[in-house]
Amino acid sequence: MEVRCHHCGYAFQVTGDIFVVNRERADLVCPACQRSLQVVNPKLATFRSGSTEKKLSSITSAVADDGRLLRLPEDQEVCLKVLEGEERGTVYPVTKPRITIGRSNVDITVNDPMVSRVHCALEISDEGVLLRDLESANGTRVDNQPISAAVLRNGAAFRIGNHVFQLVISPKKP
Ligand SMILES: [Zn+2]
Repeated sequence: MEVRCHHCGYAFQVTGDIFVVNRERADLVCPACQRSLQVVNPKLATFRSGSTEKKLSSITSAVADDGRLLRLPEDQEVCLKVLEGEERGTVYPVTKPRITIGRSNVDITVNDPMVSRVHCALEISDEGVLLRDLESANGTRVDNQPISAAVLRNGAAFRIGNHVFQLVISPKKP
C-alpha cells in the first residue's frame, strides 16, 4: 500500500502486512523526514466510518423481499468474524439489518475466486439471523451442507468459497 507522510507529504510504498502486530494501526517512520507516522488500517477505517454513518441516521430497519421487517437488535452487537480465508482474523461489525457478502458491490467484500460477486446475505430480524444464499455459483454451506436459507445461532459458522465466517452476537457495551 502507499503511505503519505502527513508531516512532509512524502509518499512511499510499504510492502507486506504492516497490520500483523496491531490490526487497527501501525507505527512507521517516514524515510524522508524521519518523523514517526501512524497508519490506520484502511479496511477497518472503512467499516468504522460505515458504522458512524449508521449511528447518525436512525434507520436501522428495512423490509426483506418477502415482506418481513428486518432490524438490528437494540441491546446487542452483531459481528461477523472471519475464521478461515485471506481475511482471517477480520471482524466486521454488522451495521445494517441486511448485509450482502461477495466479491463486488456488496457490504462485505471477500477477495476469493470461489466466491460469487453477490454471494449471500444476512438478514437480521426479531426472529433471529437468517443466512440466505443468493444463487451463488459454489454455494453457501452450514455444517458442510449447502443451504438456500438457514437460521444462524450465535457462534454458528458458514462457508463461502475458501472463507469461513462466524456469527458473533454480544451484549452492547454501555
Ligand atoms: Zn515525512
